[in-house]
Amino acid sequence: MNEFELIRTYFARQPVSRADVAEGIGDDAALLRPPHDQQLAVTSDVLVLGVHFFPDADPESLGHKALAVNLSDLAAMGAEPAWFLLNLTLPEADTLWLEMFCRGMFRLAREFNVQLVGGDTSRGPLNIAIEAHGFVPPAAALRRCGAKTGDRIYVTGTLGDAALMVKQRAGKLQLPLLALAAFSERLDRPTPRVREGIALRNIAHCAIDISDGLLADLGHILERSQVGARIFLDRIPVSETCRSHLGQAGWDTVLAGGDDYELCFTVSPGKLEALEKLQFSCRFQCIGEIEREPGIRVMDESGKPYHPRETGHDHFAEKTK
Ligand code: ADP
Ligand code: MG
Repeated sequence: MNEFELIRTYFARQPVSRADVAEGIGDDAALLRPPHDQQLAVTSDVLVLGVHFFPDADPESLGHKALAVNLSDLAAMGAEPAWFLLNLTLPEADTLWLEMFCRGMFRLAREFNVQLVGGDTSRGPLNIAIEAHGFVPPAAALRRCGAKTGDRIYVTGTLGDAALMVKQRAGKLQLPLLALAAFSERLDRPTPRVREGIALRNIAHCAIDISDGLLADLGHILERSQVGARIFLDRIPVSETCRSHLGQAGWDTVLAGGDDYELCFTVSPGKLEALEKLQFSCRFQCIGEIEREPGIRVMDESGKPYHPRETGHDHFAEKTK
């Protein structure tokens, strides 16, 4: 199979379901019609073999995750996803791998009505880069710089399951058999909180998606907003299984583990009533409050300061030891 057959067979066959795509895959560039009254939100994320996934990773999950992490970034801006590009390097044209990859990616694309409109395909070490585009009304985007002293800090869903699964795969933990399927799902097929991000547009002051761990990502909000925060361990939402492993894995796994792809957002006290009225498909929980003093203060169950030893994922962190 040559490059052009591959593109035609796997990527160009998807029906174009959006009226704002004038020209999708097939020409030198796609032609798109962004709505004249909205801002374009643009983001990209790459999955690299050996860094983000293991060689034996299930291709269907990779297809899902490569798109999901991008939709999660759009969600964290309050943007409605529209289009995406796929830049793929593959060691060989493995048809089974490609079929499974496309199944995972296009299932999620259909769920959120996002259209693949182009990309590039080349031979090389397995590397999956997606760029996604979405729309958000001017001034409605959930930027990191919007947190204000007195805001309540919220997170969607539960945190920590994906990080526990990473530990399990590294042989550092033994999760009960019954939990493995659910935890793999959390790590390999995260749910981008797109509808939640859009619903928060006129309610939240700011938002971020938790990809590198709560402490690191909340830290980005605090830095950009020039504020600090106090959060409470006993308010952080965790699944039952995660809670039962906290003794062994420790709170740092939840606080710094990453890969949750939940939203962390802040809401002023005046908007709490509006927040409570939102119909989310997942829970959301207040975990603390924005304060003037810089830094994050974590309080344990007994009200004493908790000092995390890990702070989150950083690809270029200097290795200690
Ligand atoms: P060019 O050589 O002009 O860059 P290509 O042969 O790379 O064109 O691509 C032909 C068409 O196929 C373009 O519309 C491009 O966007 C699309 N395309 C190539 N690879 C992919 C891919 N992995 N996913 C989606 N579209 C792709
Ligand atoms: Mg090209």
